[in-house]
Order: sequence, then structure tokens, then C-alpha cells
Amino acid sequence: MDVILKGKYIIKCKIEAQTGLHIGEGNNSLEIGGIDNAVVKDAKGRPYIPGSSLKGKMRALMEFAEGKVRDNLLVVSVKREGRPEICLHMCDDLNCPVCGLFGRNHGSHDLKSGEKIDLTDAVIPTRLIVRDAKLIETSITEEMKENLDLDWTEVKFENNIDRITSKAHPRQSERVPAGAQFSAEFVVNRFEVDSKDDQKYYLEKFIKAMKLLEDDYLGGQGSRGNGKVKFVDIEIFYKDSSDYEKDSSKLQPIATAKSLDELKLS
Ligand SMILES: [Zn+2]
Repeated sequence: MDVILKGKYIIKCKIEAQTGLHIGEGNNSLEIGGIDNAVVKDAKGRPYIPGSSLKGKMRALMEFAEGKVRDNLLVVSVKREGRPEICLHMCDDLNCPVCGLFGRNHGSHDLKSGEKIDLTDAVIPTRLIVRDAKLIETSITEEMKENLDLDWTEVKFENNIDRITSKAHPRQSERVPAGAQFSAEFVVNRFEVDSKDDQKYYLEKFIKAMKLLEDDYLGGQGSRGNGKVKFVDIEIFYKDSSDYEKDSSKLQPIATAKSLDELKLS
């Protein structure tokens, strides 16, 4: 297979929390300050959105939206004793928008349907790169801070009601407040694979994934009102591979928009 890099689309935007946002850091948070369910933070204690969280969620949404969640199109990624296995979509179709954008793993995999699939010949570099999205500190205003429990976050008590005793079991959960913004950057590589140029195909699919995420949720407890996000102040740049040999300081965006609703690609 011949793969040539034609250029890179660079999408810069802000991600705004429309509701509280909880992206958990796992189970090791009990030692740090005693919150049961803390949000992921950088070395300076500021919450951020890991690129892997964004990418994973967008991939999952696209798998459903592109009709790829079928037993013969799902590979078993994690096998667990006594518990259901974890599956995700991967296939050898070189035109698959999900695998083309989000990537495939080398080698042989077990399909959920029981057969095997070998993806060695279908692996091309992943087109999408997702950076960690850093908190824009000024987006959490002094006024907002007055209502926060910690420097950048609020702590909610959630009650789990015991169905037999009706006793409430309160549990703390930390979240980033509505209104917080994060600066995000995504790169979509444009390849030519065996003389077939991607053009804007994967960029358009990526924008579809952004739209799907806005109508879904990011992080935990989405069905309980957390995790609604909006992409704002969007700028898309294109760097042709030849531009990397030139002075690129004057690079102009190919599209700008306040929100996805207003975004038009020429
Ligand atoms: Zn696929």
C-alpha cells in the first residue's frame, strides 16, 4: 500500500461545558482530599479534558452513527472473567470512516460473532490526533468561584437510596462547573492511499463526530444531567505538506465559525 501525506487540517476551538462536567480520574482519588469521585486534573491541579476521553467518546458515537455496531463488525478488545467482554468496531474496509479516522490495531482479532479478522494489511496511520484540552482559567470567573467548593470545581452530593431500608447513601462527586471552557486542538491528516486522495472526506466525518458529541455527553453521569458540551470559536486551518518547507506564519483559516451550526466548509 502506498500512503502519501497530502496535508493536515488543524481544528482549533473551545469546548464549553453547558452543564457540570465529570471526567473521572479512576479509583485512586480517595487519597487525594477525600472526594470519592474526583475529576482528572493536570500537575497544577486544574481540571482538563484528556484527548483520549474525547477521542474514545467520538469514536463510540461514530460507530453507532455509521452503522458499525454489529456482531460481525465488532472485535473483542478486552476479555473479562465472568463479566461481559468489551467490544469495539474495527474492520479491514479501507474506506471505513470510523477506522480511517480513529485507527485500527495491528494483527489478528476475535470478532464478537466468533470468527477472526486480521487487520495487518489494512493498517494505515491514524488520521485523527486529539490533544488534551486545557482549562481556560479566565472562563471560571470570580463570580463563579464564589459558588465553588474547590479551586476550580464543585462537589455534589448524590444519594443512592437503599430500596429495602430507604436509607440514603450520600456520595460525593466532583465536577467542572457549567460555563467552564477548555482550549482544544484536533488534527485530521489528509492522505493519498494507493492514488486515492482523501480530500475533505475525513474532515467532514470529524465534524459529524463533533456534532454527535454535542447531542450526547462527555464524561460520567451523562444520563443524570452532566457532560453537555458545545464547540465554540471554531477555526480550521489547512497545511499542505509543501507548506512545511515554507514560512507558515501567515497561515489563514479556511473556515471560522462561532459554533458548529454556523460552520461551512468551502
Ligand atoms: Zn471500520
